[in-house]
Amino acid sequence: MTEPQVKMRLHEAILARRDELIALTQDLIRIPTLNPPGENYREICDYLDRRLRGKGFETQLVRAEGAVGDSDKYPRWNIVARKEGARSGECVHFNSHIDVVDVGRGWTTDPFGGELKDGKIYGRGACDMKGGLAASIIAAEAFIDVCPDFSGAIEISGTADEESGGFGGVAYLAEKGFYAKVDHVIIPEPLNKDRICLGHRGVWWAEIETHGEIAHGSMPFLGDCAVRHMGAVLHEMEESLFPALAQKRTEMPVVPEGAKQSTLNINSLHGGQAEIPRDVNALPSPCVPDSARMVIDRRFLIEESIDEVIGEMKTVLDKVKGERPNFSYEMREMMRVLPTMTEREAPVVQSVTRAIQDTMGTAPQYVVSPGTYDQKHIDRIGRLKNCIAYGPGILDLAHKPDEYVGVDDMLQSAEVMALSLADLLTG
Ligand SMILES: [Zn+2]
Repeated sequence: MTEPQVKMRLHEAILARRDELIALTQDLIRIPTLNPPGENYREICDYLDRRLRGKGFETQLVRAEGAVGDSDKYPRWNIVARKEGARSGECVHFNSHIDVVDVGRGWTTDPFGGELKDGKIYGRGACDMKGGLAASIIAAEAFIDVCPDFSGAIEISGTADEESGGFGGVAYLAEKGFYAKVDHVIIPEPLNKDRICLGHRGVWWAEIETHGEIAHGSMPFLGDCAVRHMGAVLHEMEESLFPALAQKRTEMPVVPEGAKQSTLNINSLHGGQAEIPRDVNALPSPCVPDSARMVIDRRFLIEESIDEVIGEMKTVLDKVKGERPNFSYEMREMMRVLPTMTEREAPVVQSVTRAIQDTMGTAPQYVVSPGTYDQKHIDRIGRLKNCIAYGPGILDLAHKPDEYVGVDDMLQSAEVMALSLADLLTG
């Protein structure tokens, strides 16, 4: 077959699977894999296992035993399916997370019903990212039918816990060496069918604690108020840190525009004795707070180093320490993820770029995500740089009520994935 013939056959093979793609997406939505707590992972893995073995894949079910979140009540199951080609060659791996977030309020359709209406399939996880998972399966199956003598291998993984950090999912698989035999990774997260996501900003979470001394609330001069010390920290952050962060701009193509700068969120703030629950009828006791704790969520750019990020916060705290008598603090790191960005020249980027051009007639937009996703583990633990996120669905619908994925969008992105397979594994 010539190249144009292969492209035409793939186009037809994808279109012929429209009903199958709809049914597959609906089946996946109807298995409620809510995380937290991490429900029905085994059920969805068994479903995928049956389907992919039926299409000639070899499968492995992997429980992330001992990982954060794994328990006998809520075991963290993952599936990795592999289909060998006719000859040796490179391996293309599609990774989708199987978990979905809480439903929330405001739905007008059944969140686990998978209703099809006006060319859209509704449900929690429809766009993030069971639609992407279904599209990658249909793409792989269509490609195998059209090009049975391909070289290399195709892998499809369904992994747990992406929404809670991915430690019982991709991180576990990467630690067990599952990415050692992989050359190209496509993560079908909902980034819109004509955008290629190259990576994400970095994350640093830390807890900052200021100390004081407890005393009777009627005589606060006998104690030392940790909340006032924290107030001074907040004041200094407003004076120097927030304005400095707003000045830092990145060359990374981060979307939305507001995330092209460094950002810092104060995730929580608590000082003094524990708060009384709203439904409990009681009064607090009069005490000077001897501790105040703040959790910060700092998102940083590829141009910044983690040491610089930590150093800035320490500078704020040390400045306050120099100005306030009795000020003492502790700063504890809770999590760090370095920024990552795949080169535009990387083979998987080039292949998907050509496939988008062939399918949609337009050049793709390259983007970087403001928050992280499982690429972080593939990059850091799996040591694989040739990785992108590409998939159907509108990013803004993720985690919202009445989440949906468009059937035509799924078909087009499935065609892009199939053409990319042809580009990477034939000829
Ligand atoms: Zn997602």
